[in-house]
Amino acid sequence: MPDGRPVRRLVLGAPPGVELQLVDLGATVHRIVVTGGDGVRRDVALGYPTVAAQLASHDYLGASVGRYANRIRGGAFVVDGTPVEVTPNDRGNALHGGPEGFDSRIWRIVDVTSTSALLRLVSPDGDQGFPGELTVDALFEAEENIISVTYEASTDAPTVVNLTQHTYFNLGGDAAGSVDDHELTVHARAVVPVNESGIPLAELLPVADTPFDLRRPTRLAGPLRSAHEQVLRTGGIDHNYVLDGSGLREVARLRCPATATTLTLATDQPGLQVYVGNFPGGPPARHGGRYRQGDGIALEPQLFPDTPNRPDFGSAVLRPGERYLARCVWQFTPQ
Ligand code: BGC
Repeated sequence: MPDGRPVRRLVLGAPPGVELQLVDLGATVHRIVVTGGDGVRRDVALGYPTVAAQLASHDYLGASVGRYANRIRGGAFVVDGTPVEVTPNDRGNALHGGPEGFDSRIWRIVDVTSTSALLRLVSPDGDQGFPGELTVDALFEAEENIISVTYEASTDAPTVVNLTQHTYFNLGGDAAGSVDDHELTVHARAVVPVNESGIPLAELLPVADTPFDLRRPTRLAGPLRSAHEQVLRTGGIDHNYVLDGSGLREVARLRCPATATTLTLATDQPGLQVYVGNFPGGPPARHGGRYRQGDGIALEPQLFPDTPNRPDFGSAVLRPGERYLARCVWQFTPQ
């Protein structure tokens, strides 16, 4: 780090299964190496080559995002009658926890085995404006062809919490270029449409008869080039899907036909932000060049955006004595 603190890298799992590399800066997924159906092992997660690049980036590659993933309108909301203001960092809104989100902190490594790592972050009362001291545990497990990420949190005063894993996948390999050819399935009947600054509109958008309909495997090139007003507004897909069902369930499937690699994603969260990265002027990528628009796709399980201001979206409030729990499971299959 610029102040001399070391950044540590951990390696979990082993061939022929999945190998997961993490860094403690941001509890970040650094590499995910899997074997495709073509028999080739490749890294399917986009990542930074250096700590400097990671610190310079605004793309959250692989980061554990918090205290509130996605946007809070105006950075302002009310918790149990108390008005709260979080420092805005995105077109007047608070994005991914504010200017110094959890992605920019060094998490403490509490426990490591050959297949698991527990990282912890204590976010002080008033951090970026959020009330309450929040203690967050991120447990990463990698065994055979499955990676699971579990976020747990507790607080000493009422606050809001929405944590997510922000890995961008390219199942053709991190240097393969566009994910245009990937086929994506998302089990959702509606998405959350947004205004010019990414804040949800009043009404959900049913996906039927729109380019957002991913209920059958859909080659990404199609929807990304659609003239739908919402696609034009976000420069591609950057939308939260209202997932079918509840509890830990399969919600999405991403397949790369060229390498015969499939990722199945399960989560217990109600929403999935699908973001096909725009990477405006990003820092150096691991392959030596730069990531371009559409080189990776983030599938981020979470609450719906701006839930603290949208009672119709449920609640993001965590109170003392309660436990926040969010799970995400990635299974890789050679098909
Ligand atoms: C958001 C995008 C944002 C990006 C930053 C995504 O989770 O949905 O709107 O630009 O993170 O990298």
